[in-house]
Amino acid sequence: MNAEIIAVGSELLLGQIVNTNARFLSKHLAEIGINVFYHTVVGDNANRLKSTIEIAEQRSDLIIFTGGLGPTKDDLTKETIAKHIGKELVMDEAALTSIEQYFVQVNRQMTDNNRKQALILEDSTVLKNDHGMAPGMLLRTNTHMYMLLPGPPKEMEPMFFNYGLLAIKGQLQSDDRIVSRVLRFFGIGEAALETEIEDLIDSQTNPTIAPLAADGEVTLRLTAKHQSEDTANRLLDEVEEKILSRVGDFFYGYNDTSLISELSKQLKSKNLTIACAESLTGGLFQQELTAIPGSGDLLAGGIVCYTNDVKTKLLQVKESTIQEFGVVSEPCAIELAENVQKLLGSDIGISFTGVAGPDELEGKPVGTVYIGIAINGKPTIAEKLSLAGTRSGIRSRTVKYGSSLLLKSLT
Ligand code: ATP
Ligand code: MG
Repeated sequence: MNAEIIAVGSELLLGQIVNTNARFLSKHLAEIGINVFYHTVVGDNANRLKSTIEIAEQRSDLIIFTGGLGPTKDDLTKETIAKHIGKELVMDEAALTSIEQYFVQVNRQMTDNNRKQALILEDSTVLKNDHGMAPGMLLRTNTHMYMLLPGPPKEMEPMFFNYGLLAIKGQLQSDDRIVSRVLRFFGIGEAALETEIEDLIDSQTNPTIAPLAADGEVTLRLTAKHQSEDTANRLLDEVEEKILSRVGDFFYGYNDTSLISELSKQLKSKNLTIACAESLTGGLFQQELTAIPGSGDLLAGGIVCYTNDVKTKLLQVKESTIQEFGVVSEPCAIELAENVQKLLGSDIGISFTGVAGPDELEGKPVGTVYIGIAINGKPTIAEKLSLAGTRSGIRSRTVKYGSSLLLKSLT
């Protein structure tokens, strides 16, 4: 089954809002192994919506609409679809009762056009709206499935997640269980990773392998179908093993995890404490680490050492190191990491120094970064990075590299 998402709303075309509904729906459809081949956006106009539906019907099995289920004149999704496929709109008593109750609850007068919101396509399955008035619906014809969802994300997202997904799965008429697993990689580009496993991606049909790049990371979603969930999981294990035998060096975790939370887990399990000297990152590493609950026990503390004075006076970096090599240098990163570890009495010291831009520093180009890692009882290491991108991109990627480097040093 392949799907198309049609977002209805002139405000999308005017650039007033971003089509986050399509992103949300695509993400969750991918999780149950449904291919989304098209995202379409169309304004609040019956003729253009009709021709959009006609095009979608030629190329997609499941057509999901968002928006235009409201009470006003410009909300015409339901009416246009009904006319197009030759279905009546009928009053859904349960939906009407819930709309009436809603008005009692908020102590407002219900108007006639609110009744319109309780109209559904005949023969469709109602999707309950727990956060608003307009019900969603799913209609199956001989050729297609149509799903209608409200526009506001706070209504649409829980409706789809709690009722819509199940309704689609129920219509798939298959006893297959769909199991999916995300593998997360860092330190390898999407193109390079795809090249390494291209033959696997091309030849695999069950499980399927879908790559996605975002925020400097690459993820692979593996999706398997089988009547037995155990077998589906075994299929995933097998293909995961093949993938990791090739690119396992860059793998760091499953599903919704992040580098910093994997690092936090490692530090906790090894009972280690960390101290940070942050120049380039200005406290970002500590901010991310402390965003994870329970990091109180593992972060000793840190110093934002933006000026040379703080580096030399507080963190005791030698004046001669700065004169000879500069602050953006391996020797400076090493001294910062070792000194912050000793001064704060932690097991690990980590340091970040570099050029975030827009101007170069000490003759070093924007994106030059050094990360120092001092672990009690091990030789201190420093890694040089040459990053591209914006100031904030460089800083956030530096934090990811630091987490990844430290994770590798600990395992
Ligand atoms: P309402 O009852 O609020 O009128 P509706 O189902 O008629 O809901 P629309 O009128 O199309 O939906 O959109 C209502 C609001 O929902 C928009 O102003 C916008 O804030 C949000 N919205 C609509 N479509 C999208 C979308 N594709 N992505 C993100 N937000 C959206
Ligand atoms: Mg509306």
